[in-house]
Amino acid sequence: MRILVTNDDGIDSEGLIALRKALSGVGETVVIAPNHNWSAAGHTKTMHKPLRVTKVAMRDGGEGYACDGTPSDCVAMGMLGVAGERPSLVVSGINKGANLGGDVTYSGTVAAAMESAVNGVPGIAVSLASYHDWDFALAAEFAARLATRVLEKGIAPDVLLNVNVPSVARERVRGIAVTRLGKRIYRDKLIERQDPFGRSYYWIGGDEPTGRAEEGTDIWAIANEFISITPMQMDLTDYAEIDRLKGWGLSL
Ligand code: MN
Repeated sequence: MRILVTNDDGIDSEGLIALRKALSGVGETVVIAPNHNWSAAGHTKTMHKPLRVTKVAMRDGGEGYACDGTPSDCVAMGMLGVAGERPSLVVSGINKGANLGGDVTYSGTVAAAMESAVNGVPGIAVSLASYHDWDFALAAEFAARLATRVLEKGIAPDVLLNVNVPSVARERVRGIAVTRLGKRIYRDKLIERQDPFGRSYYWIGGDEPTGRAEEGTDIWAIANEFISITPMQMDLTDYAEIDRLKGWGLSL
């Protein structure tokens, strides 16, 4: 089985190297990853410039393909054969930082798995829920275990799995929770500065997001030291809202 391994933190990230190493026990791995950090790239498709793919030696001496596109470009290129045969599975990560609730719409890590689902291939996104502690061992081990199961059992078409692993010692992890997306609360602030010419420029800064730890959600699972797996689909339709909107009786 051929597994495409990618991420959004860039091809030099330790999380990618740990993930690739763990997955090499599951199947034949090929790395196609962005040549720099693309965190919060979302599901982007590069359409207005050419894409370059370069075979490189990774930090652990392994071979990979560095691409100057986004994480989802890396997957799209892999599906189109840039690095050989089409993969049977895409695993993205291990991201430095959680991807919970509404984060999934910003995340390049998750977008890579979405691109896989778009191509009819199962995708798994794996994130370590920390902002400072980068021990990827447990997340890598679990990713390999889940990848094995997905290859054995398959998942429904157009579905991807969003996995978050708590950043705690292995013996503290309380188990695996299959979850739904929770509600993130963002605390963005506009940071204004002046350039040398006296013009304003901005950062979207602020504090780390929090979230509502409602039971059964990914946010709850991580807050309670479970590994969370959220099955996600590409269909974002709000079915309940269809009838309400129809009830408005909109017309020209
Ligand atoms: Mn990232």
